[in-house]
Amino acid sequence: MLRKPCKQLEFQHLNPMSLIVQKYGGTSVGDVDRIKQVARRVKETHDAGNQVVVVVSARSGVTNDLIARAKALNPTPDEREMDMLLAVGEQETIALTAMALHALGVPAVSRTGTQAGILTDPAHTRARIKHISGGDIQAQLDAGKVVILAGFQGHAPDGQITTLGRGGSDLSAIAIAAALQADLCQICTDVDGVYTADPRLVPDAQKLDEIAYEEMLELASSGSKVMQSRAVEFAQKFKVIFEVRSSFNHHPGTIVKEEAASMEDVVVSGVALDKNQAKIVVSDLPDRPGTAAKLFNALAAADISVDMIVQNIGRDSKANMTFTVPQDDIYRAEKVVATSFPDEASGKLFEANHIAKVSVVGVGMRSHSGVAAKLFEALADAGINIQLVSTSEIKISVGIEPKDAETAARVVHAAFGLGATD
Ligand code: ADP
Ligand code: ASP
Ligand code: MG
Repeated sequence: MLRKPCKQLEFQHLNPMSLIVQKYGGTSVGDVDRIKQVARRVKETHDAGNQVVVVVSARSGVTNDLIARAKALNPTPDEREMDMLLAVGEQETIALTAMALHALGVPAVSRTGTQAGILTDPAHTRARIKHISGGDIQAQLDAGKVVILAGFQGHAPDGQITTLGRGGSDLSAIAIAAALQADLCQICTDVDGVYTADPRLVPDAQKLDEIAYEEMLELASSGSKVMQSRAVEFAQKFKVIFEVRSSFNHHPGTIVKEEAASMEDVVVSGVALDKNQAKIVVSDLPDRPGTAAKLFNALAAADISVDMIVQNIGRDSKANMTFTVPQDDIYRAEKVVATSFPDEASGKLFEANHIAKVSVVGVGMRSHSGVAAKLFEALADAGINIQLVSTSEIKISVGIEPKDAETAARVVHAAFGLGATD
């Protein structure tokens, strides 16, 4: 399984008997009425003669609530127990969605990640999918049933329940679409598609008709919550073309696919904002080969992903290293610094504080210059100070004060002409 690419999707001209994977996120199944609405949409698709696999998330807020309860009992809960707990959210919605379909006279059956044969590595709370057997999903579809699959979960080789990282139902949908060689994979959510920026923060953001995997990946890993970055990575690897669209209307959404030549004409496709980063400064490090390797190896061993890095040499030839990590990892990162450099004289944690990151993304950056200059100018004009910068071939990110985050996203969006034109 997971070898052959998803069959090419012809969005407008599906055969009468197509296999369609539809994923509904937390808001879309947020309460009983919303679940009824999802069931009606699934019935429409099924009545049109299609085989349908529905992947659902937990009701919105449920996963956060479960995490809060766990942390109220133990600030560092056991990760195996955490997965046992978190998988509950999706197990509720699969059963409710199946019941809602039964009430409409649609034959439907729910399946957990384990029942669908979603095998992962044993990295609890952030497991990676290794293989998908599909269990009896194809047989159930062939018997005329709609299959409702729990998103976000799988099982490790020893049978333990695992979860796939926050937002992981996106990954479940893409992966099952690849495994079943679905004709269509739709990620149905509470916005009409992928926009040039989060439409809740930047009111004149525009919906994109299509976006390249690479751009979607950079946006997702820079804080655009609309898709889980691992899901996009998986889609790119297994060539699953998918559509992000609304659960609440029938407007065409955004197609996420391989880069097309014309995409390079647009310099910047989108702006992402991540308000949950932390900046750590380690000062007085010995300025000699191996210091950075020691620090970043230790962070990597603790599975902490570091984003922006700046090194400068202070007085007395001591090095200062500044880097950013996700805010959730700050305490673990501090611990790593303290254990890597136990001797105060050979490196001390100077400060760790909250920071926001604004990124501009576009495959057109490969062939156009002046993107950094325009970004810096837009921020300067708004009186926003830049603390850190990082770049990749198709992305530039800046670290700024959290209080400036939303203004920064808006002014940068406007500077690159991404807003509505009229
Ligand atoms: P779901 O529960 O359906 O998985 P999420 O809340 O995870 O939905 O993701 C959808 C949200 O992503 C939207 O409500 C929107 O606020 C946010 N978002 C952030 N960046 C973007 C963007 N560039 N385009 C569309 N939505 C975005
Ligand atoms: N329920 C999980 C979460 O909140 C997975 C998902 O919604 O995609 O992260
Ligand atoms: Mg999501």
